[in-house]
Amino acid sequence: MAKKEPVKVQECPAQERIASFCEVVLGYNEEEALKEAARCLQCKNPACIQGCPVNIDIKTFINKLTKKDYAGAYLTIKEKNNFPSICGRVCPAEYQCRKACVLTPKNSPFASEAAINIHFLERFAGDFGKDKVLSLSEKKDREKSSAFRVAVVGSGPAGLCCAGELARQGVHVTIFEGLHNSGGVLRYGIPPFRLPRNILDFEIDYLKKLGVKIILNFIIGKTKTLDELFKEGFAAIFLGLGAGTPSFLGVPGKNLCNIYSANEFLTRVNLMNAFQFPKSHTPINIGKKIIVIGGGNTAMDAARVATRLQKMNGFDVDTTVFYRRTETEMPARRLEIQHAKEEGIKFEFLMQPVAFKGDDNGYVHTMTCLRCQLGSPDASGRRKSIPIEHSAFDTPCDIAIIAVGLEANTLLTQAVPELKTNKFKNLVVNLKTMQTSIKGVYAGGDIVGGEGTIIEAMGMAKKATQAIIKYLESRHSKKNLKQQIPNSK
Ligand code: FAD
Ligand code: SF4
Repeated sequence: MAKKEPVKVQECPAQERIASFCEVVLGYNEEEALKEAARCLQCKNPACIQGCPVNIDIKTFINKLTKKDYAGAYLTIKEKNNFPSICGRVCPAEYQCRKACVLTPKNSPFASEAAINIHFLERFAGDFGKDKVLSLSEKKDREKSSAFRVAVVGSGPAGLCCAGELARQGVHVTIFEGLHNSGGVLRYGIPPFRLPRNILDFEIDYLKKLGVKIILNFIIGKTKTLDELFKEGFAAIFLGLGAGTPSFLGVPGKNLCNIYSANEFLTRVNLMNAFQFPKSHTPINIGKKIIVIGGGNTAMDAARVATRLQKMNGFDVDTTVFYRRTETEMPARRLEIQHAKEEGIKFEFLMQPVAFKGDDNGYVHTMTCLRCQLGSPDASGRRKSIPIEHSAFDTPCDIAIIAVGLEANTLLTQAVPELKTNKFKNLVVNLKTMQTSIKGVYAGGDIVGGEGTIIEAMGMAKKATQAIIKYLESRHSKKNLKQQIPNSK
């Protein structure tokens, strides 16, 4: 067992960071990365690799770090993960590779502190590679060219990953994005203090350098149909539509003013710069008592954004997260919960909102809640939350942000009934090829379902890309295609 203490990562102090949107986790410097990498036991059967949804060769990349072969570490990660700088910042490692690390005790619900800080090491290698290695492969990647055109719908991690993989194979890719900026949740959902925009912009600019075209403000299914894309000469289509439809609480008063869905709240701030109103055209209301309902990453992001807006607008920080289970069952990243607490956010566990009350002008002022207790585990394995009779109480609230879940984006699937969906409105795909019910149309990411993580979305996109290349090959003679796509196998 490793005896050395885990190397702490540097962070911007809580009081300083809540007055801005600057990055919270500052990452390892070289000395710290080497020290942390040296803690890895280089297990004979490394469990961490199985814990990673795309099976990055974690043992090898950490070993390369210990030898100061930073480029080698970066390239090892890139074999499985297109955007290490992004994943190193936002991957829920404590539920994945770090939880599986041999230094986490068995049956622990999430990684122990002793587990190797794989995500911080990945971020170190990712940032090194982004600055020093990627430019070396750019010329080589750009030289490949083929006659094939593929359309990618949606510019979230699934769409970006698919576009990058295809572009590297010489395929001409056009991304169609409904919003006015690219990145999907990476831009409109996750705040810049977790994922600085220069990191995201760098990866998107690199795709553009490889020849990927990005057409914004363009909704496939409305502005153009799938058939039209095929008729225009796109040989295949990848759908990375995401799960951008918010769920609401079906309780009285849910439509009162100043009750936001977390998606709307975060989109207004992250994508539309509402915190700069009136300089930006999008306003956002801020209150003295903000309540966020939910226990996932979206709830943590909404609460931490709300806290910053309170601070930046001269209010006392008073944001409370209400969650129906306990902290142990919260699906949010442990790191984000810890950061939220450090930033002064309060938590009320075992709470079920049952109504909102408002004033004569229709603005919310009170939330009514029932207290709950935990019952037996449900289908997700988490213990059910059971409301306690006669436990209702009122609590003041002048802004409520609802973060209780997201559903599939149905803009396209509603318009194309031939696309088979399941009861959750997710696209049904062949899990080996990621092909949908329409030949030549593939899908990946949240629109297909799964754990709803960035790395999983990218893993699905990578799988789809391999199938798309095979599909292109099958439509044309192999010889012909090899001439057109030099690197295809
Ligand atoms: P998305 O990122 O949703 O992108 C889909 C894109 O498709 C959008 O830009 C949308 O506008 C576009 N689109 C949809 N339909 C059309 C159409 N018909 N025409 C054109 N464009 C269209 N995961 C983690 O791993 N770690 C985290 O810390 C984390 N935090 C999160 C925080 C928040 C607030 C949210 C909402 C999610 C978070 N997640 C996190 C989940 C993660 O972001 C998603 O699993 C991931 O973004 C899914 O990627 P995607 O490409 O499938 O979809
Ligand atoms: Fe073993 Fe953990 Fe190192 Fe993976 S990260 S090789 S599980 S010590």
